[in-house]
Amino acid sequence: MFPRKWQPSRTFWIAIAIALAVTVTLQVSRRAPAPTRVPFSEFLSDVEKGNVSALVVTGDAVQVTRASGEVVHTMAPPNYISVNAGIATGLAQKGVRIDVRTTSEPAIIGYGSLVLGVLFLIVLGVSLYRVTSGRIPALESKSREADETTAGVTFADVAGVDEAKEEVKEIVDFLREPTRFSAIGGRIPKGVLLVGPPGTGKTLLARSIAGEAKVPFLFSSGSDFVEMYAGVGASRIRKLFKDARRHPSCIIFIDELDAVGRSRGGNSLSHEEREQTLNQLLVEMDGFAPNQGIVVIAATNRPDILDPALLRPGRFDRQVTVGAPDLKGREQILRIHSKKIALSDDINLHQIARGTPGFSGADLANLMNEAALLAVRARRQIVTTHDLEMARDKVLMGVERRSLAMTEHERITCAYHESGHAVVAALLPNADPLHKVTIIPRGRALGVTMQLPTGDRHTHTREYLEAQIAILMGGRVAEELFLRQMTSGAGNDIERATDIARRMVCEFGMSALGPLAYRTGGGPWDGERAAGMSEATAQRVDEEVRELVMRGYETARLIVETQRDSVKAMAEQLLVVESLDADGIKTLIATHAVVAPVVLAQS
Ligand code: ADP
Repeated sequence: MFPRKWQPSRTFWIAIAIALAVTVTLQVSRRAPAPTRVPFSEFLSDVEKGNVSALVVTGDAVQVTRASGEVVHTMAPPNYISVNAGIATGLAQKGVRIDVRTTSEPAIIGYGSLVLGVLFLIVLGVSLYRVTSGRIPALESKSREADETTAGVTFADVAGVDEAKEEVKEIVDFLREPTRFSAIGGRIPKGVLLVGPPGTGKTLLARSIAGEAKVPFLFSSGSDFVEMYAGVGASRIRKLFKDARRHPSCIIFIDELDAVGRSRGGNSLSHEEREQTLNQLLVEMDGFAPNQGIVVIAATNRPDILDPALLRPGRFDRQVTVGAPDLKGREQILRIHSKKIALSDDINLHQIARGTPGFSGADLANLMNEAALLAVRARRQIVTTHDLEMARDKVLMGVERRSLAMTEHERITCAYHESGHAVVAALLPNADPLHKVTIIPRGRALGVTMQLPTGDRHTHTREYLEAQIAILMGGRVAEELFLRQMTSGAGNDIERATDIARRMVCEFGMSALGPLAYRTGGGPWDGERAAGMSEATAQRVDEEVRELVMRGYETARLIVETQRDSVKAMAEQLLVVESLDADGIKTLIATHAVVAPVVLAQS
C-alpha cells in the first residue's frame, strides 16, 4: 500500500493532529443547543392556528419554526408526511415554507470526519506494522557493525592480559575454520563472558578476536536494550541476532551485560520489560547451533548479579577474567600506545610503569594521550619524561583547578591539613612512600597528598591498614593542633578511615571480634549487617570500628605533636611553592624531623 521506505515525517504528524483538532472543534461548535421537542398533536394544533412559518423535514423528523421565530422539534408518525401529500400541500397553502431533506444526506463535516478517521486508521496501521517489524528507527537494533574499526585490531594490540588471550585463542581458530572443529565433533562455546573492571580492555580483546579471525564484529551494549516500552528490548535482540545470521560467521559483542542480564524477579513494569528482553536473549542463544559460526561475547564487571540462566551450559558457559595489568603488562600497554608518539630518548617506560600501580589499560592509554597533548601545548615535537609525569598526576589526582579562588585562610588550612597527612605518612614505617603533596586544587579536592606503592599490592597487612587510618586522621589533627579549628575538609578522610576500619572488623577479621564475616552484600563498601547478627554483636562491631579509628587518630596526634617542626616547615613551604615532590618531602623531613622512635597508640 505504502512504498516500503515511506516514513511519516514530523510535519505529517503535526498536520494530522491539526486536522483532528479542527474536526473536533467544528463538530462541537456545530452542535447547536437541541431544540425543544413538542408532541406531534401540538404541532398539528400549531398548524391549525397558523402558528407555523417553516418546516425542515428529514424523514420523520420535523424541525418547526413557529411564527414567533421559536424553533421546536417533533417526530411525525412513520411516513406520515410523505404518505399524506395532502398535508404538505395544505401546509404550503397556509404559507408555511417546507424544506424536505433526505435522511442519507450527510453534512460536509460528516464526510470530513470519515476521511480523517480512515486516514487516521491507515496511519495507525502502518505505524503498528512498522513497530512490529522493527522498522521504526527508534526501535531498530542499535548494534553497530564495526568491520572497519575492527579491521587491523589484533592480539598484538592487547597487552597485559596474556591468560585471557590464551583462553580465547581457540575461538579464533574455530571462527577461522569451523569445519575443522565440527569434523571431530568438537563443540565451541556459544557465549564467552569477559569479566573485569572497566577499562581493562574487554572490548578491545573482543575486537581483536574478530580482527584475528577476520569476521564481522557486531557491537551492542546491554543498556541499548533497556527501554521504557515493553517489547522494544526484545525486538532489538531479535534484530541483532537476525543481522548476525546474515553472516557465515561473526562475533556479537554485548557490553555491560548486567544492564539486561540481572537476576529476574520483582514485579514492576521495568522488571517485566527487562525479563522479556532477557528471555529473548536466552531464546536467541538457544536458537542457533553451536557450530553455526556465531560467537556471543559479553562483558561485565558484576558476574555475581547475572541471572543464573545466562551462565548455564550452551549460553555464557565460559568465563574469562580480564584483570588490571601487572608491572610487565603496564609497560607493554604503554609501549603499544606510544607507537604513534615520538618519545624522547631518555624516557624509561619501565620506570613509568613502576609508578602507575593500579592503572588500567584505559588509564595508561589516557596517560600517553595526555602526555602527547602536553607536548603539543608546549609546541614540542617530542614527548619528554616530564610530560609523562605531569600526565600521570593528572590521571591520578584529577585536573588542576588553578582558577579556583581560595581565600588566604583556606590556603593556610589546606597547607597544614596536607602537611599533617604527609608527615604522618612519612614517619610511619608501614605506609606507602609519598609521591606528592600539593595545595593546588585538583578534581574535587582542595589539596592532595599522594602516596604510591613501590610495587603492585594484592593484599594488605593489618599494620598497613592501621597506618592508612592514621594518615587519614593526620589532616584533622594538624588543623586542630596548629589552627585550633575543625573544618569540613576532613569529611572525606573520616569517611574513608571509617570504611577501612569497618572492613577490618567485618570482613578481614582484624579485631577482637575474631575472624568472622559480620556483613554480607555484593560490593566492597555496600555490605549490610549479616543475617542473624544480634543487636549486641552489632553494637560491638560499632565499638571495634570506633576503637580502630580512634587509635589511628591517637597515632596521628602523637606523630604531629612530636614532629611539630616538620609540619610547620612543610606547610610554610607549601604556601610558597604549592607542590612538593617525593625528593622535596624527603629533604624537608630529613632537616626538621625529630629523631624519635615512632610512637604508635597502643590498643
Ligand atoms: P573495557 O571494555 O574493559 O571497559 P576497553 O576495551 O573499552 O575497556 O578499553 C578502552 C581503551 O583502553 C582501549 O580502546 C585501549 O586503547 C585501552 N586499553 C585497555 N586495556 C588495554 C590493554 N590490555 N592493552 C592495550 N590497550 C588497552
